[in-house]
Amino acid sequence: MRILLIEDEAALARPLTEHLEADHHLVEWFGTLDEAESAIQTSEYDVVLLDLQLPDGDGLSFLSRVRAAHLRTPIIILTARDKVSDRIDGLNRGADDYVIKPFDLDEVKARIHTVCRRSADQIAQTIMLRDLSICLSDRSVFRAGTDIHLTAKEWGVFEVLLRRKSKIVPKESLETAIYAFGDEVESNAIEAHISRLRAKLGKDLIVTHRGLGYTLHP
Ligand code: CA
Repeated sequence: MRILLIEDEAALARPLTEHLEADHHLVEWFGTLDEAESAIQTSEYDVVLLDLQLPDGDGLSFLSRVRAAHLRTPIIILTARDKVSDRIDGLNRGADDYVIKPFDLDEVKARIHTVCRRSADQIAQTIMLRDLSICLSDRSVFRAGTDIHLTAKEWGVFEVLLRRKSKIVPKESLETAIYAFGDEVESNAIEAHISRLRAKLGKDLIVTHRGLGYTLHP
């Protein structure tokens, strides 16, 4: 999973990052809301871990902003605030869960798995796109009842485009989607994946916006 960690205390962020990476997650750690907001606009994450007291603002206002922008990524608040009112405020603003500091690293890991499973259930429905029926939960694509096989990387690229709907997705966001596989991304890798996806799914399904990125053709 790709995890966005927003936490200004290195003494907390470092061990948490190491613990999650040891569990084969990819963690991107930022210490300010400003950096995190740019990251979340250009990359896809499976879960966000959000501290509330950050040097450039309050995590709760970040939470409200990203939910107002219809970002559905699960968000878990990490905070020393243990007042019930803060917890309710966070959940009302769209957080999925709440972990009180100091926390046990395994507990955070367990909470991540729980919110992601819940979120996967919510989006398990099949998406219909032209003559394709796409099931996000089991990563399958069918045309007229026939299974179209996509490689893991092709699926990674396709899924980012699907989730962004008609928004232009920069090439860099697609590259980060396949960085998770651990190897170097060659300079023309995205073009190659896009061309294979077009061959498999329909040649005008993915539109190239020169210098900007790609969208799915509605
Ligand atoms: Ca803090």
